[in-house]
Amino acid sequence: ETKPVLIIGAGVSGLALGNFLLREGIGCVVFERRSREYVEHRQRAGVIDTRATRAFRKRGLEDRVGDGVPTEPNLGFRVDGQPRPLGLSVEEHREGRFCPQQVLVRNLISGFRQEGGDLRFDTEVTVEDHENPRVRLGDGSIIEGDFIAGCDGSHGVTRAAVPEDRITRHTHEYGYAWLVILAEVPAHQQTLMAIHRRGFAAQFGRGPQASRFYLQCPLNDTTEDWPDERIWSELGTRFGEPITTKGAIVEKQLVPLRSEVLSPMSHGRLHLLGDAAHIVPPMSAKGMNLALYDADAFADALVHYYKNDDPGLLDAYSDTRLNDVWNYQAFATWFTNTVHDAGDPGDRGEFHHRVARADFERLYTSGTANRLLSEFVAGLA
Ligand code: FAD
Repeated sequence: ETKPVLIIGAGVSGLALGNFLLREGIGCVVFERRSREYVEHRQRAGVIDTRATRAFRKRGLEDRVGDGVPTEPNLGFRVDGQPRPLGLSVEEHREGRFCPQQVLVRNLISGFRQEGGDLRFDTEVTVEDHENPRVRLGDGSIIEGDFIAGCDGSHGVTRAAVPEDRITRHTHEYGYAWLVILAEVPAHQQTLMAIHRRGFAAQFGRGPQASRFYLQCPLNDTTEDWPDERIWSELGTRFGEPITTKGAIVEKQLVPLRSEVLSPMSHGRLHLLGDAAHIVPPMSAKGMNLALYDADAFADALVHYYKNDDPGLLDAYSDTRLNDVWNYQAFATWFTNTVHDAGDPGDRGEFHHRVARADFERLYTSGTANRLLSEFVAGLA
């Protein structure tokens, strides 16, 4: 008798996996501890890259990835206050979609429900057993499944269910934080990024009336150090032109930049996906996309298992995904270091500053260097 796949977490990875499995006729239940209202308003990422878009398309689910605005084939850099737009050379880049994360989440929830999917909000679960998959719901009831998909983010219960001596955590701290701001300001272009001696800054569009702004700052800063006026003035200085359209700042938080990879990603019949298994710094714009690549690979592995009675892809899931995760972790580390050190290298000093400038300039002068960056941005490297 086939039992359902128990998916813990209705973020990007859990919802994408649920939609993929439903499309393939594989039974699953998605549990989410927060309310529907809460997850549908959680503002985070904004770009679905070419590779992730293709994962939806191959299952006839491309309509779920948003309103279809293609990603722009250039990055809006400003260096020392001067515009230096960087064209991306990979044509496939245009298959990527500009889609705020909460819009994707909303579309995945309604699609899953419309097709009869079992999705339970306000349901916090704990893992009872990951070898013979069983989870306990808040009301004490127990549900058994064939597999557990740990899609519950970096503070979730599934990674904690694995004995500590069976899992290795590889972590890296970058030594600075981002002040992350959400403001009611329309963006004139999808990305605007400033490399400046005072530190990195960025504006990323998040729908027609909202932008995320980022300001590199020291790790020990607090949001009290950043009243609204200081934010607008510092953004103006780093961008090299004043911010003329200021809107209400609706969210302000400090995020220390860090990377993490958990290894292995599979433990018996428990498999980790997305942030539950790995964190990349937001500069790479790969957090949401890696979560989607995991969902794509894990869905393929389950289809192969149920249709051919062959666990080969499931057994290979962890190794295959980790190879790819480290590849994108390498990109995320390089890109993050380069755009920060090319501006304010902090304690890393003048030598790293000059090396980062050389790395950055090469993206304009070498077609080969530009192509590699473009492949990573599209998710095709
Ligand atoms: P999540 O989306 O975090 O979902 C996990 C879900 O599990 C949550 O809904 C949680 O409530 C639920 N859960 C947890 N524990 C339990 C439990 N015990 N029982 C039931 N449910 C549980 N990525 C990009 O690609 N580009 C960006 O520009 C970008 N910007 C970001 C900006 C910010 C401020 C932040 C915080 C993140 C950003 N990211 C970005 C990263 C991206 O948002 C994450 O990588 C992505 O959400 C990971 O998806 P996930 O499904 O793994 O986890």
